Amino acid sequence: MNPKEEKAAAPKFGFETRMIHAGAQPEPVTGARQTPIHQNTSYVFHDAEHAASLFNLQTFGFIYSRLTNPTVAVLEERIASLEDGRGSTCCASGHAAQLLAFFALMEPGDSFIASNRLYGGSITQFGKTFKKFDWRVKFVDVDDPQNVRDALSPDCKAIFVESLANPGGVVSDLEALSNIAKEAGIPLIVDNTMATPYLCRPIEWGADLVVHSTTKFLSGNGTSLGGCVVDSGNFDWAQNDKFPGLAAPEPAYHGLNFYETFGDMAFTTHAHAIGLRDLGSTMAPMNAFQTILGCETLALRMERHCENARKVAEFLEAHPAVAWVSCAALPSSPYHALAQKYLPKGAGAVFTFGVKGGYEAGTKVVENCEIFSHLANIGDARSLILHPASTTHRQLSEEQQQAAGAGPDVIRLSIGLETLEDLIADLDQAISNP
Ligand SMILES: *Cc1c(COP(=O)(O)O)cnc(C)c1O
Repeated sequence: MNPKEEKAAAPKFGFETRMIHAGAQPEPVTGARQTPIHQNTSYVFHDAEHAASLFNLQTFGFIYSRLTNPTVAVLEERIASLEDGRGSTCCASGHAAQLLAFFALMEPGDSFIASNRLYGGSITQFGKTFKKFDWRVKFVDVDDPQNVRDALSPDCKAIFVESLANPGGVVSDLEALSNIAKEAGIPLIVDNTMATPYLCRPIEWGADLVVHSTTKFLSGNGTSLGGCVVDSGNFDWAQNDKFPGLAAPEPAYHGLNFYETFGDMAFTTHAHAIGLRDLGSTMAPMNAFQTILGCETLALRMERHCENARKVAEFLEAHPAVAWVSCAALPSSPYHALAQKYLPKGAGAVFTFGVKGGYEAGTKVVENCEIFSHLANIGDARSLILHPASTTHRQLSEEQQQAAGAGPDVIRLSIGLETLEDLIADLDQAISNP
């Protein structure tokens, strides 16, 4: 059997089993069962020939932790398995993952299409900082797939959306978007941070690359920045001449063609051997370890996150002082049908609402909360509250804030794992005591 047939024949374990075991085995020298933290920069070569073949990418192995590290490698295999991908590359943060994903695809002067409803930091990274590489983004409202078709151009190298968008419970129609990407011969990149692979697996719907801020639900305790790019292994990088970085000779490796040489591991090999080598945005081994621990309880945590969030959203929707709630778990949401299709186990734990009285009343609610922490993060075991317009989405124009669902009266919640009644009581007193 060749390795491919072997993989197809292997029994596929359930999600919860892979959450705990994928990529890891007892440490062979000591028998340590949990993955050790390899707090280590470099790895001894067997001899000169071994060193040369590692540097030529002819042998896989560890050279230097900017490129690969044994603890980080376990997390990479674990997340790839949970996403049903072929391989993955972990890096320092979610933003580093986005840079790494585009770095393999884009040449100066190229463009890509992105949803106008994204995490505010991503809108700024794409719209402002990527400009310095002469990478051009076109933000469109992806709710109507025709907008995406209309924005396509010959220099367009990817379509980027969030499966479940931060902050407002917007769900992207992944299947429709993947069909457009396929017709155009470009990859669909999906940021699956808010959904996690427990709630949504974008590759099943045709996504080619999946990116994560592992900072959020995957690590789950608010301890560790991190990011990950998962490659489905399904994209044919040689179907056109759009991706010379992956499917043309690479001068830095004596003319090596990544796609010819590594096939469905081309993107992941490139992301380590070129991306991490030259961008340097490596994930720290300690952060990988914390995130491995987070993955082990992902399904259990997401179930409770979603249940608490749905019930808090229902409470707010019925509250007389609340003007509106935007949460895809609620039947009143315009994204409820898409949520049932793409997120059947739950619509995540992050959503927005507005109180009557607008900005002033909203900031009071944020300040009055006692259990909810006022801070700029999501996906923590703790419940979190934030006013996006003055924080995460502050760098945007007011028009962009409105389009992203982060207007002046919007309050974002990330519902944690505390006792539901305590969360509801805290919000109730915060709203009722202006
Ligand atoms: C937080 C976040 C990011 C950025 O991740 P960092 O780890 O903070 O760099 C990207 N996308 C989404 C949806 C996020 O919530």
